[in-house]
Amino acid sequence: VFEKQYDIVVIGAGPAGNNTARFCADKGYSVLQLEKRPVIGVPVRCGEATSTRKRLLDFGPITEDFIETDLNGIVFYGTGDIKITVRQEDLGLMLDRVKFDQFYADLAVKAGVHQYTSARVTNISAVQNNKRTVYFNYDNADHEVQATIVVGADGVEALSGRWVGLKTRQLPPYTCSAIEMKIDQMDPNPDCITFWHGHDYINSGYIWSFPKVKSGVTNFGAGFIFPGPNKPNIQELTEEYRQKFFPGSKLLDVYGGCVPVSGQLEQDWADNFILVGDSGHHTNPMTGGGITAAMSAAQFAGEAIHEAFVAGDFSETRMKDFRRRCDDWFGKMHDKQLKIRNYVLKMNREEQIQFYQLVKVFAEKGKVPALLRYPIRSLKVARDFWRM
Ligand SMILES: Cc1cc2nc3c(=O)[nH]c(=O)nc-3n(C[C@H](O)[C@H](O)[C@H](O)COP(=O)(O)OP(=O)(O)OC[C@H]3O[C@@H](n4cnc5c(N)ncnc54)[C@H](O)[C@@H]3O)c2cc1C
Repeated sequence: VFEKQYDIVVIGAGPAGNNTARFCADKGYSVLQLEKRPVIGVPVRCGEATSTRKRLLDFGPITEDFIETDLNGIVFYGTGDIKITVRQEDLGLMLDRVKFDQFYADLAVKAGVHQYTSARVTNISAVQNNKRTVYFNYDNADHEVQATIVVGADGVEALSGRWVGLKTRQLPPYTCSAIEMKIDQMDPNPDCITFWHGHDYINSGYIWSFPKVKSGVTNFGAGFIFPGPNKPNIQELTEEYRQKFFPGSKLLDVYGGCVPVSGQLEQDWADNFILVGDSGHHTNPMTGGGITAAMSAAQFAGEAIHEAFVAGDFSETRMKDFRRRCDDWFGKMHDKQLKIRNYVLKMNREEQIQFYQLVKVFAEKGKVPALLRYPIRSLKVARDFWRM
């Protein structure tokens, strides 16, 4: 069933893989897409919150079918009982990730992508004659195909980068472990996403509550950066918070997952190869949100791959062009967000209270806080923050 050679082989059928495959097929290239899961998008390991319709339209058509909630605000609980409420119309969307992933996978097929599920990639060769060989298992048999460019869109559990010699390991201090629960109660603010962060809740991560209005359920969860030995079991802790914030709720489903929150990798490209999405650590290191970053990276991958074919040059130097595009759009911003995150996590409880007091004024009133009204230590917090 497989051709011997493809222009591009894409590994994975999440937001990164589906869109990279489609953008490349749209430009007329032959694309093979291999996904190890039997059903695309299942299981969902995601809080399912994302950007606006307008932003999604940048990547092509959308459907109301995968939209669960129109979000119009954020409720944030910080250290010291500080509650910050920001109302903003059209802030973002809650998705049905299964429908979302399958919608983009179908678009890829319509664009001409040869897409296979239950197809697990097991290795990628070094470059020979300007091609890489991709080894995979499908239908209980081993197969191999050749590709001019291989795209590793294999998510947080990616091995593709390592197979081609890139340093992509998910190191514990830079990886968020998360528990996601689906519960039968609707969030009290059904058009807002709610977060709890800081020393009074979870400091090395946060708790979230994201309402899925169409389905009448709430995604409740918590993510932690390397809780470490002798720390509470993260599922038990998330369960405690569920009972505290949603007493009497019924647990409909629970999943665990990881989010790469290291900021960009030193290198996410190689000869005849690029990493897109979670596999390239393109995820936002502050929020852990990776859907639109994966789709943006997919768009840049499509452009960079096309230009490589036009130039007939698939060398590491040429593929680096992909990284330049990512850097300009989200990479530099993620580097900054990483600094801010690390700074906030290092604060002690008192500093965090002062910090969130300042954020409250800024976020709710939309103005820079009059710092002299605050304790002198707030000045240091504000100054450090400003310098980042
Ligand atoms: C608990 C949790 C909550 C989250 N909440 C949010 C949120 O609310 N909003 C948000 O924007 N982001 C969220 N994220 C992050 C988001 O889910 C990811 O950033 C996003 O899915 C990245 O897309 P991707 O295509 O890079 O990877 P994925 O969606 O993980 O897709 C990778 C695909 O590659 C496949 N694959 C892996 N290895 C192979 C192989 N060897 N052969 C073939 N196929 C392979 C996998 O099966 C998978 O289908 C959350 C993550 C977690 C874990």
